[in-house]
Amino acid sequence: MANPKRRISPARRGNKRAHQKLRAIQLVRCSNCGSSIRPHHICPSCGFYRGKQMIVGESA
Ligand SMILES: [Zn+2]
Repeated sequence: MANPKRRISPARRGNKRAHQKLRAIQLVRCSNCGSSIRPHHICPSCGFYRGKQMIVGESA
């Protein structure tokens, strides 16, 4: 089995973990209803994505 030869030093471990922070999610305006939505996602309030109604029949 592949195993690390040496223990990772506290400094190297900290350098690795320095990039693991969470980012705030991006928000854009829905082109149909104008509410804040995540990019590349169907609008949860009106069900539009790329100018088309994707969710039909729900309370949109
Ligand atoms: Zn919308």
